[in-house]
Amino acid sequence: MLLMKDIVQEGNPVLRKRAHEVKLPIADEDFQTLREMMNYILNSQNDSMVEEYGLRPSVGLAAPQIGISKKMFCMHTYDETGENSYSYAVVNPKIISFSEEQTYIPSGEGCLSVDEEKNGLVPRAARIKAKAILVNLETLEAKDVVLKLSGYVGVVFQHEYDHLQGILFIDKKKESMSGIKPVIFTEEEPTAE
Ligand SMILES: [Zn+2]
Repeated sequence: MLLMKDIVQEGNPVLRKRAHEVKLPIADEDFQTLREMMNYILNSQNDSMVEEYGLRPSVGLAAPQIGISKKMFCMHTYDETGENSYSYAVVNPKIISFSEEQTYIPSGEGCLSVDEEKNGLVPRAARIKAKAILVNLETLEAKDVVLKLSGYVGVVFQHEYDHLQGILFIDKKKESMSGIKPVIFTEEEPTAE
């Protein structure tokens, strides 16, 4: 299982590369990478695992963060209402439209690859439309989809997507979010890593 020591930290050049397209059909080793990333996220949302293994809680993890420069990431989180859960193993995503309207997570974004002291406010598109391949990690079925995401889950998707372009949230951090409406959480706010 992946531990914090396996997560590449800021300063490592792999985080600054554009990741390669995943070759299709998806190879066994790529399915394995997706499973490991999803398992890290799930473990990091389990209090006893967090304590036992010293995991930093997260809702997303991209392949470059474990040193694999391929266009893959996983995310697992509820939306801001706490009612809908999103659990995606994503391959070769392409965001095809960004809304002009922006939003941000009021408590700021963080990243497993960046020191927590650098958490900060990041303007993001309020809504996105993306093409991607979603993998069902139980059946290994891979499906071409078009996703329309907004609010918190849209922000998480954009954060992970940026990792595949060699971009970190600290590149986009701003001091002031004047004129931008935040994501409003009606449930306890999840960590935005
Ligand atoms: Zn990150």
